[in-house]
Amino acid sequence: MTATATAAIPSAAPAAAKGIKQPKPLPVPNSDFYMLAETLPAEELGVLKQVRAFMETKVAPIITKYWVEDSFPFELLPAIKELGIGGVGLKGYGCRGGSTLLAGLVAMEMARFDASIATFFGVHSGLAMSSIYLGGSEEQKQKWLPPMARFEKVGCFGLTEPLVGSGASGGLTTTAKREGDTWIINGQKKWIGNSPWCDIAIIWARDLADNQVKGFIVEIKTTPGFKVEKIQNKISLKVVQNGLITMENCRVPEENRLQGDNSFRDTAKVLKGTRYFVGWEATGCAMGAYENALKYCQERLQFGKPIGSFQLVQDLLAKMLANITASQCMVVRTAQLEVEGKLTDAHAALSKAFTTAKCRETVAWARELLGGNGIAADYNVGRFFADAEALYSYEGTYQMQNLIVGKAITGFGAFV
Ligand SMILES: Cc1cc2nc3c(=O)[nH]c(=O)nc-3n(C[C@H](O)[C@H](O)[C@H](O)COP(=O)(O)OP(=O)(O)OC[C@H]3O[C@@H](n4cnc5c(N)ncnc54)[C@H](O)[C@@H]3O)c2cc1C
Repeated sequence: MTATATAAIPSAAPAAAKGIKQPKPLPVPNSDFYMLAETLPAEELGVLKQVRAFMETKVAPIITKYWVEDSFPFELLPAIKELGIGGVGLKGYGCRGGSTLLAGLVAMEMARFDASIATFFGVHSGLAMSSIYLGGSEEQKQKWLPPMARFEKVGCFGLTEPLVGSGASGGLTTTAKREGDTWIINGQKKWIGNSPWCDIAIIWARDLADNQVKGFIVEIKTTPGFKVEKIQNKISLKVVQNGLITMENCRVPEENRLQGDNSFRDTAKVLKGTRYFVGWEATGCAMGAYENALKYCQERLQFGKPIGSFQLVQDLLAKMLANITASQCMVVRTAQLEVEGKLTDAHAALSKAFTTAKCRETVAWARELLGGNGIAADYNVGRFFADAEALYSYEGTYQMQNLIVGKAITGFGAFV
């Protein structure tokens, strides 16, 4: 797929205007250097191109304004619904279906323009819908997934708590107590993406009877005792609305408990899939920063020449492209392992840790190449630079991923 430059950046003084002789048109920035998108079958490549067109024409022109204002672009929801990609990669129940590779490339393509939109989509279509897809009964899937696939009901995923993040597997303090056919849930959840405005929360809580973690589908707007405060003053993924949820004696019917989930092992199944998904988002975020920086380097003049003609600048650009291409190859292989039924927690963890670390390095180099303009939101690169920080930490920090890998390769658990 031939890439065009991503979201428009203010001109850095066209070289031609200064009388510099340009024998032939400059290459259009293209971060899909090994042409991985072209490995999709034609029908799926068409879907990917629709996503790209949506991001380029609808999201790119307005997203910086929303990012600066810390707000979500609700005006985009009708167009997102029309795209018809809810539940991409999931089969049946009104979901978009498609290959695992398509689902990954959609996330990457979104993040190539804006990591917040990719995250909003990933939380809803990945975390929330996958929780029901993997842990729900047939009846629950029939009931909840079709309206979610159509974005009539938007979901969030509540695992992290104010006092429990990395240690969620053994330390959740949110409790669920069964009384007849009703569960009483008490506790708090922090950082929950989409929660200040969405409809459905997947809440993970510890059953007081057997001490095991169970999942619950909670209808946010109609459950008394369920309160959400928007988290203010973030410096990363500012378009995503994150919430602090407080639940005081929330009554949830047994029919809304995810019937297939009996312990944190079932929560971990959802996280395995979505963690490797973050690898796609991080790769896309690096791609967006690289393409914006490369375009800038082709246009920005110093010492009478485009800065892209300087050797040290080209060295940085080549290193950025190598980071991106290595990450792309890694996430494509994780998608193949998923299809082959061989993707382990350690595979997903290695990919999440590597791609987010390389993303962080790449966006920092992109910021550096823009000089002072690199810290101004108007030039896009500053947004990618800041957003990479959240990708690096959410859905399990770098250290947690490496501890998962470390256990798999040495045979020794080192979590505490
Ligand atoms: C923008 C954003 C969106 C998010 N969205 C969601 C969401 O939708 N749903 C949700 O449930 N959560 C969400 N999260 C939460 C996210 O998953 C957690 O922030 C993450 O898991 C880390 O937990 P913590 O912030 O509590 O950090 P902590 O667990 O307190 O970790 C702090 C530091 O200590 C290190 N550390 C901790 N334990 C160890 C150890 N044993 N060995 C070595 N180092 C260790 C960590 O690696 C990290 O560097 C989101 C977070 C952000 C920032």
